[in-house]
Amino acid sequence: MAIQKVRGTNDFFYNETKKLKQIESYFHSFAKIYGYEEIRTPVFEYTELFTRGIGEETDIVGKEMFTFTDRGERSLTLRPEGTASVVRAVIENSLLNERSVNKLYYMGSMFRAERPQKGRYRQFNQFGVECLGTDSPYADVEVMLLNINILSHLSKEYGSAALSDISLEINTVGCEKCKPEYEKALKEYLKPNLDKLCATCRTRYEKNVLRVLDCKVPSCKEVLNGVPAVYDYVCCECKDSFDKVKESLDGVSQKYRVNNMLVRGLDYYTKTVFELQCRALGSQNAVAGGGRYDKLIGIFNNGKDVPAVGSAMGIERLMLILEDSSLAQTEKSLDVFVVAFKETEAFSISMLEKLRRSFIECDSDLNVRSVKSQFKTANKYNALYSIILGPDEVNSGKCVVRNMADGSEEKVDIENADKYLLMKLAR
Ligand code: AMP
Repeated sequence: MAIQKVRGTNDFFYNETKKLKQIESYFHSFAKIYGYEEIRTPVFEYTELFTRGIGEETDIVGKEMFTFTDRGERSLTLRPEGTASVVRAVIENSLLNERSVNKLYYMGSMFRAERPQKGRYRQFNQFGVECLGTDSPYADVEVMLLNINILSHLSKEYGSAALSDISLEINTVGCEKCKPEYEKALKEYLKPNLDKLCATCRTRYEKNVLRVLDCKVPSCKEVLNGVPAVYDYVCCECKDSFDKVKESLDGVSQKYRVNNMLVRGLDYYTKTVFELQCRALGSQNAVAGGGRYDKLIGIFNNGKDVPAVGSAMGIERLMLILEDSSLAQTEKSLDVFVVAFKETEAFSISMLEKLRRSFIECDSDLNVRSVKSQFKTANKYNALYSIILGPDEVNSGKCVVRNMADGSEEKVDIENADKYLLMKLAR
């Protein structure tokens, strides 16, 4: 039997890769506009980084990590998310001492053993940003606006109605001082209806009660109707921070919705959390999410806390939303297509190399089919010019350059074909 891809993974080629690269170029540009620089970290880390960082009781650590033992009997894990790795790298490379604020972004594959479905994969790509070294609520807003700006520009550029229908959901989950207050209140509220909660939520009730708020099971949702809002329980500092986030969003006329049920799946969040939701995505409707994590760095930094905020956007989800838009619908494009004959095949290869050394995008039919088929391919690839290199041309030292748009042809010295084409291409 032919070997197939592993369930929950994706192949990207031709138009899909183009779409991916267009999206990635947006990430690079906007990250730069907002003052972020790129960081690249390994795709696997010591397992402990994630168990300690993300939290033993989270779904990710509890059941979704791809963990294996290496030959030295060390436990390694394919990264399920990017923040823990960035935090590790920043501490390990002493970046926290060098700059008061480190603003870093990454792009890359994450791995989670989730049940695959549309928009949920086992290997997927994220664009993430991390702003480390400040507790300013304006940093939270900056992160949100960076994500929103990317989405709104993509939606405009590619005419995607679905992508313009994005809702910014925000909430606060409090800090280590006030979170326990709310957890206590939530437990009291849920206690009389414990039997109505799903089995997972009954475990969450004991181990990580905030996660009950996230449950999509109808019976749990019903119990949660009328649940106390976390904002009413958080301390003055958290309230003040959240109020500043709201004021600042109002200040730039950015719409948002305070969603009391938003807690997000990772343990490390404190204060502000947010999600960008897109209705068109159906059940997996979050395209990006993030929040503040003021206690995470301390876990790996000998207890010395450094406030930070970050976000991650799912690239495959974005591609799903943009599926029907004009994004990357074009075929390959070329400056020059070299039409060769069997007798001149070797010569055509040196012509291609000559052009490529002048940064002219060119290609040929490596199977050297009929001239008619080669012109068809040149048209398919949207070549601007073609060069005909038959035996007569090679012998006479002059090739034919055809303008593919109007069919006009000119005889050009083979020796100077690169310079002639550079002039024609206005480079
Ligand atoms: P998280 O790291 O869970 O906060 O997720 C951030 C974003 O990554 C989500 O909003 C999704 O767009 C994307 N994402 C998370 N998990 C998956 C997955 N299994 N497959 C595809 N995208 C995902």
